[in-house]
Amino acid sequence: MAVTGMERHIVHMDMDTFFVSVERLMNSKLIGKPVIIGGMSDRGVVSSCSYEARHFGVHSAMPMKMARALCSEAIVIRGDMDAYTRHSRVVTEIIAEKAPVYEKASIDEHYLDITGMDRFFGCMQWTHELRQRIMKETGLPISCGLSVNKTVSKIATGEAKPNGEMEIPDRQVKNFLSPLSIRKIPMIGNQTFHLLRSMGISTIGTLGQIPMEMMDSLLGKNGIVIWKKANGIDPTPVVQYSERKSIGSERTFQRDTMDVAGLHDLITSMVEKLAFQLRKEEKLTSCVTVKIRYSNFDTHTLQKRVAYTSFDHVLMPIARELFDRLYQRRMLIRLVGVRFSGLVRGVQQLNLFEDTSEMVHLYLAVDKLRRRYGSDSVKRASGIQLHDLEERSAQSQLQKAVPSPEDRQQIDNLKNRRWRYWYR
Ligand SMILES: [Mg+2]
Repeated sequence: MAVTGMERHIVHMDMDTFFVSVERLMNSKLIGKPVIIGGMSDRGVVSSCSYEARHFGVHSAMPMKMARALCSEAIVIRGDMDAYTRHSRVVTEIIAEKAPVYEKASIDEHYLDITGMDRFFGCMQWTHELRQRIMKETGLPISCGLSVNKTVSKIATGEAKPNGEMEIPDRQVKNFLSPLSIRKIPMIGNQTFHLLRSMGISTIGTLGQIPMEMMDSLLGKNGIVIWKKANGIDPTPVVQYSERKSIGSERTFQRDTMDVAGLHDLITSMVEKLAFQLRKEEKLTSCVTVKIRYSNFDTHTLQKRVAYTSFDHVLMPIARELFDRLYQRRMLIRLVGVRFSGLVRGVQQLNLFEDTSEMVHLYLAVDKLRRRYGSDSVKRASGIQLHDLEERSAQSQLQKAVPSPEDRQQIDNLKNRRWRYWYR
């Protein structure tokens, strides 16, 4: 798709305070008031908040206790991932109808490649009309940026928020980026930010002027990517989203079986492996399918749409329920399969509304072990106690007191992933 030397037209669209906006759609009394969405317990965190709440200093990822202290009149809502998933689908459907190529980057974020559209319409006019249409049909505010690549378009959206749109043509890219804080580059998290700040680098313009080799020695391969982004270079393509794209696992038995307990265990371990794969690839699923084939080759599937997730503990009961509904006949089974589809790229979901830091750390710890020792290394059935896992991961962290540049970037990536789920 991407032809070298050809100017691309990439749109980034991002819903404004998405969760809050959906809540306001369902309850108009929330309009104009400070609203905070997140975990209700003191250990919970803010996952989204309205601009009114931000005036009090509340921001995403802040401990709920602190947020309540800062803004006592805020209306605190637990959040409804099902509703957000439904509205997200409607937005995607509108975009799918109009855009030649689009990527669903997260629940409230899309990239569109509209290169070539300027032969028929002005690209900005087209983008403007699509944005108006989304707002009219969904009742939700959305902002967008139009530029030559994903990074610049995303930064432009950030600058256009709330409820705005911005076009940065090729010739203006450098001037636009130059005065902005290096924090605005999506890859730069706290660690990298402080490292660069300690070297006196605070604007994108300055970052773009330092020698590329220096970024290489500071941050390795990622340093070069960051340096290129600072110079307005980002060749990554918009990857077409497909509802049907999926990951799955099937098992055909050597000898047909009716052992329901054994089948439950098998489905559990399939879900575990697939969910780990989702998290590893930074994806979420919104549809679970279970398949069984009887010994006479009669094959049945059942699927269920779910709120976006990549968590075992959410997906397991769904897969089991589907299996129980499917397996009605007392007949030998030849094959079972589990499949996740309706995948969204690029985001790690943390369970927003029950999110405690313990839960987050647990998943990070388990996944780290799996990455190191293989996806079979940690299993629910193995009887490993959760605190053992945390201890083991804490120990492995102790061994490496000084993070390498790669480690530092990886930590940033993990944190960014977390942060990216706190929607603006
Ligand atoms: Mg957003």
